[in-house]
Amino acid sequence: MMKITALRAVPVSYRVPEGQNVTLGIGRAVKRDAVLVKVETDEGVVGWGEAHHGRCPGAIAKLIDTTMSELVVGMDALDVVGVWAKVYRMQLSSHGMGAAAAMALSGIDLALWDIRGKAAGWPLYQLLGGTAKPIKAYAGGISLGYQAPASLAEEALSYVKSGYRAVKLRVGDTPKNDIARVQAVRTAVGADVDILVDANTNYSLDDLRRVLPAYEEAAVGWIEEPFPPHDHRNYLEAAAMGDVPLAAGENHFTRFDFTRLIEDGAVRFVQPDVSKAGGVTETMRIAAMTSAWKLSFNPHTLATGINMAVSIHVLASVDNAGYFEGDVARHNPLRDEVGGTPYKVDSSGCVRPLERPGHGIEVDEAFIAAHPLIEGPCYV
Ligand SMILES: [Mg+2]
Repeated sequence: MMKITALRAVPVSYRVPEGQNVTLGIGRAVKRDAVLVKVETDEGVVGWGEAHHGRCPGAIAKLIDTTMSELVVGMDALDVVGVWAKVYRMQLSSHGMGAAAAMALSGIDLALWDIRGKAAGWPLYQLLGGTAKPIKAYAGGISLGYQAPASLAEEALSYVKSGYRAVKLRVGDTPKNDIARVQAVRTAVGADVDILVDANTNYSLDDLRRVLPAYEEAAVGWIEEPFPPHDHRNYLEAAAMGDVPLAAGENHFTRFDFTRLIEDGAVRFVQPDVSKAGGVTETMRIAAMTSAWKLSFNPHTLATGINMAVSIHVLASVDNAGYFEGDVARHNPLRDEVGGTPYKVDSSGCVRPLERPGHGIEVDEAFIAAHPLIEGPCYV
């Protein structure tokens, strides 16, 4: 047994420099947040995880530092399934904090898998049964937002020139603007680059009806989150409307949300976020569910190098890996400075998992000290 002796969450933030604010279906990005989770053990092995900020990073950190800490300190750090089950029972099944609890649990679970890897001396993908195979990536993250079609096409082309063979555009603006942007990018990048689009839940069924013919014409690879996750009926209607497949999952929590998403049959690309859906433990379960249904597994990534590195380890360890979501933001200290470079995109647009024990991102506590929590919403 390797006893958990301490559990601490640290919310970190930075302001997006003026002029670099990307606008997308959920608003204009003005700052970036993350919640880092540190787990210490009686053997001196320390693990780091990342919980999604839930647009209120201080609240997620508080939940981890209080209720979750009381549940988990004293348990065996190697008992990831036991920790998951205990937190589920005490915070997700009754009288708990729902999605916030899933995000907090995800951060703890990532730290525990980091500890397992360090204790074994193995990179996470090896613990999960994977290999260091190339994983295809698309140019995504908070980028390719609402802007003039010509400048968007230029931005997309720059990512293709740097190696990416797929790009994800932000839609969910007016149908007219969205269509003009998709068409401009298709013209710029040519026929061989995969164009994906993400509405960030900002479409109505009528919007979708208007954009679909143009998206089919432009061979769009998927339409991500046209609607909020609870609009189950909209997804079913949308899936019957045209030939562009739907993607969703970054706002679904635990295998129980994914059960309905999968069984409804409307979505072909399934996108759990390891920092939201329930960590590595739960995301591997979800990946297995999608494998059985012959669906493509494409984890959503945000916000630090930890989430990105873990996502690649998981992709390298499943039999239905789709894309890794590359973060192409020009300036992103959460990606670059938390603890080393999480990945490099090669000339064929692929990434590989890190080779260090655990997830491979060793958090620099000086970064934490230099990026204290900034209160308020990250999108306005
Ligand atoms: Mg998305």
